[in-house]
Amino acid sequence: PWSKKFPANRTTAMAYRDIPKEPGKRAKAAIIALVRNSELQDMLNTLKSFEGKFNSRYNYPYVFLNDEPFTQEFMDTISAHTSSETMFGLLPKDHWEVPKWIDQTEAQLSRIQMAKKGVIYASSLSYRKMCRFNSGFFYKHPLLQEFDWYWRIEPDVDFYCDLKYDPFIYMQENNKIYSFVIAIKEIRNTINNLWAYTIKYALDNNLNTTLLSYFTNDRGRGNDYNLCHFWSNFEIASLKFFRSDQYESYFQYLDKTGNFFYERYGDAPVHSLAAGLFLDKDQVHFFEDIGYRHSNIINCPEVKTDELKAKSTCQCPNLDEEGLRRAEWPCLGDWKEYEPRNMTNTDYRR
Ligand code: GDP
Ligand code: MN
Repeated sequence: PWSKKFPANRTTAMAYRDIPKEPGKRAKAAIIALVRNSELQDMLNTLKSFEGKFNSRYNYPYVFLNDEPFTQEFMDTISAHTSSETMFGLLPKDHWEVPKWIDQTEAQLSRIQMAKKGVIYASSLSYRKMCRFNSGFFYKHPLLQEFDWYWRIEPDVDFYCDLKYDPFIYMQENNKIYSFVIAIKEIRNTINNLWAYTIKYALDNNLNTTLLSYFTNDRGRGNDYNLCHFWSNFEIASLKFFRSDQYESYFQYLDKTGNFFYERYGDAPVHSLAAGLFLDKDQVHFFEDIGYRHSNIINCPEVKTDELKAKSTCQCPNLDEEGLRRAEWPCLGDWKEYEPRNMTNTDYRR
């Protein structure tokens, strides 16, 4: 059958290359998801929504990653629900396991301390591995080497708008590097020292930053973290950015602190602050027109003008009925109006 045409971890429900494409450019892009076998149903729900709103027309390939081998059932079921190519990859152990130089006793003690404060995922070691993987390793996976762009999806998310254009091409043609749909505040107890290290990194490397000011309490005139971050469960971004020497050096700097384990650094604030360090505001795009839900937070645009309707058509849920909320204030609220401010060593030293 079809699965014989590819190596064991590379399957295709149909020869997607035979399906006529809409004319036009294509990006070297993949849809990626880190997911567990136990999340098959939730992943299917995401897949159905994502295919319906976007990918059944664009047929970008999927790369599913897992720290454990995917079951045949997982691979067959997923592949049966898309006509796009599906690839299933196992993570190299050293991209996932706790590095030897981490003091496991100290890590466990800090998990216990954090759990007492009632922080979500406080006591989970695997959650920390996941966050570290998504911070410093996903873009190094062999299956992603042929791609320049990725769109990250997760189990149990919804998409609400028929997207009538290719967001990868949009990113490429408008010099965008990173994008988001939801920005909210991080839980301070998970990233107590992340800001201090980030500032120290900027200082040690004499960085002139512009977007970092978005993440300061007084927008560049001080140096306290306002806890805003782009939610990374949705991302459309450049793999070249993450593979760059500067991103790698920032990740290594953070990793050496051990705080992916001693604290609980999320990949979302890490990606966001990296964008703050290395990118300008106009390289980061808010995909306002992509309706999206993760847990109980949504982004859903009211599509009123014909111009917007030509780009997408949305079926947004009733927020009250569904117990959903928008993430408008304060992080998303002023993204549009926010004017970046140059920050240099003088600002970092404050
Ligand atoms: P949340 O969004 O922060 O609540 O965290 P999730 O539980 O949704 O995890 C984020 C992403 O990582 C999802 O795509 C999960 O499927 C995936 N994930 C989390 N933990 C693991 C794990 O231990 N193994 C694998 N393979 N995937 C994981
Ligand atoms: Mn999630």
